[in-house]
Amino acid sequence: MKILAITNQKGGVGKTTTCVNLAASLSAAKRRVLLVDLDPQGNATTGSGVDKSALAYTIYHVLLGEKKLAEVKVRSGAGEFDIIPANRELAGAEVELVNELARETRLKTAMAGLADEYDYVLIDCPPALNLVTVNALTAAHAVMIPMQCEYFALEGLSDLVNTIKKVRAYLNPTLEIEGLLRTLFDPRNMLAQQVSAQLESHFGKKVYSTVIPRNIRLAEAPSYGLPVMFHDRPSKGAQAYLALAREMIKREKANG
Ligand code: ATP
Ligand code: MG
Repeated sequence: MKILAITNQKGGVGKTTTCVNLAASLSAAKRRVLLVDLDPQGNATTGSGVDKSALAYTIYHVLLGEKKLAEVKVRSGAGEFDIIPANRELAGAEVELVNELARETRLKTAMAGLADEYDYVLIDCPPALNLVTVNALTAAHAVMIPMQCEYFALEGLSDLVNTIKKVRAYLNPTLEIEGLLRTLFDPRNMLAQQVSAQLESHFGKKVYSTVIPRNIRLAEAPSYGLPVMFHDRPSKGAQAYLALAREMIKREKANG
């Protein structure tokens, strides 16, 4: 089982889009996938075809120690994967956990019960370096960082890398950077090309060779509660996430 935190404190860089579509693409490749929604916006929940307003229990109850993951888990609408849903209630967890014991390790502890039920666990993080995100970084084996190739992207990346270093020092010594994923990419944009080249020179093989293009089908699919491969399979967006899943599986095999 590999637990990946999909994280970037910058908003709107494609974290949730990556989680939902990678979950579907890995499932299509016969991998058993659990998607954990750790964002009070609940976009990964909705985008997976789950009605977030109709949920009795969510990740919030897991973090507060009231429910086990298995009691909260639901099946995604179309994709063949499981999801631990979230909704607005999660926004309260940040404050409610402040005086609780082991507040950074709540998710890790909850996941210990999963044993080897899944091949991949993908955690969709909120756009903040807060306690909920620290829970994800503490529970994860590695982080996947979706990023848009813009001028301030590299600056934001150094904040995230510093947080990862702190988490390594105090909470999760073996946390790794799994990979950097270029998202919302427009090859005609010169700046995007420059930033992309900088990323490759700084981070080398950590940068996935698969690039996710800006593609309208990816933006439409969540309104149908569908991963894009069930909305428009031949689209560039769907094909890009299928290629990313293949790249991950190839790496997985190469690393034994
Ligand atoms: P937040 O930080 O708010 O959680 P996020 O990092 O999870 O945001 P998404 O919600 O995945 O980002 O994407 C932000 C917006 O951009 C959404 O409307 C989404 O549909 C759209 N989007 C994401 N990736 C693409 C893409 N490759 N092409 C076109 N639209 C995209
Ligand atoms: Mg999101």
